[in-house]
Amino acid sequence: MKRIYLDHAATTPLDARVLKEMEPYFLENYGNASSLHSFGREAREAVEKSREAVAKILNAKPDEIVFNSGGTEGDNTALRGVIKASKTKRIVTSKIEHHAVEHTSKELEKEGAEVEFVEVDSEGFVDVAAIEKALAKETAIASIMHANNEIGTIEPIAEIGEMCREKGTIFHTDAVQSVGKEKIDVEKMNIDLLSASGHKFYGPKGVGFMYIKKGTKILPILHGGGHEKGMRSGTENVAGIVGLAKALEIAENEREKETAREKKLAERLVKGISEIGNSWVNGPEIGSKRLSNNINLGFDFVEGESMVFMMDEKGIACSTGSACSTKDLNPSHVLMAINLKPWKAHGSLRITTGRGTTEKDIDYAVESISEIVKRLREISPLRKGKDISKFEKGFEERHSH
Ligand code: PLP
Repeated sequence: MKRIYLDHAATTPLDARVLKEMEPYFLENYGNASSLHSFGREAREAVEKSREAVAKILNAKPDEIVFNSGGTEGDNTALRGVIKASKTKRIVTSKIEHHAVEHTSKELEKEGAEVEFVEVDSEGFVDVAAIEKALAKETAIASIMHANNEIGTIEPIAEIGEMCREKGTIFHTDAVQSVGKEKIDVEKMNIDLLSASGHKFYGPKGVGFMYIKKGTKILPILHGGGHEKGMRSGTENVAGIVGLAKALEIAENEREKETAREKKLAERLVKGISEIGNSWVNGPEIGSKRLSNNINLGFDFVEGESMVFMMDEKGIACSTGSACSTKDLNPSHVLMAINLKPWKAHGSLRITTGRGTTEKDIDYAVESISEIVKRLREISPLRKGKDISKFEKGFEERHSH
């Protein structure tokens, strides 16, 4: 059976051009970038060349790029590192952040920090006025994601960054989903700290980077050999770093073309499923301030998990929300934050297209979704009972932990 991968927000395949670039650093130039001999020097040169390439794309300086293991580490470092360096232990963040920011903030709260989680509207846009209000109280760091991993909402980062600068608050953005898809200029967008991850833009897994604006008060959270100018100890993942930089260069070169193509695919999919009654798109309208490859659909009277399994049986890989929360039976915190009723939030399906996705794949996905929703609704006890409130109550009871 042909398999169709529509889960690019969870991870992307490695680009063959990236693999080719990485290969010598496993087999021939395998030196430790800290070693003084020629093997080490070759590795160091590759790391520094990669740093320059990444910096150029973001309009940063090379020494403002710190390589690490990915988005989770970047988010932890930003929050913990700033709180550690600051007398003010206050964090402002939003209700729709990835768990790497959300859970780290909650941990810091347990350790004595004050955290304010700002509301978002029904499309997932953070309330800028609420952030301004939250920043009226002295705040060490504000962390607002650039693009949401579940519903694709692109936040007004430049505006928030400007507000933070005026207040003297350090501004961090989790750009894991947007790097390689959206234009990022750290200067124009008033960003102090940014986290990114290679495996979201056709690079390798387990490698990422942080942008740390020169002069930002932040301390490392990992201690050891003092690599990455003391900000991130640990032997550099040379092949991974080389791959990440190559992947980012390719993504940047192909960004506009690919974004336009993915937007058309998203429109095709939404048009296709519009025939299905009691369905909708979660997040901003397709084609507006939303990641072009993200389509998050909602269906009444079905459960997202069942849909994902049935889609998988048809060879289509997609998701109900964030890959990290698939073991969690509670409704997605993002869908709850946009004010969906819990049982509506459970009927969601996230489709994220990628470079390999074709119109044919989308048509097959539409056909499969229509068939699956019809089948699930036929067997759904909820569909038979016209009283939705009973369904709602039963659902909430089953899913309240
Ligand atoms: N932040 C966002 C928005 C993400 O989507 C993810 C991964 O899904 C992460 C952070 C974590 O990144 P990583 O997998 O590199 O640890």
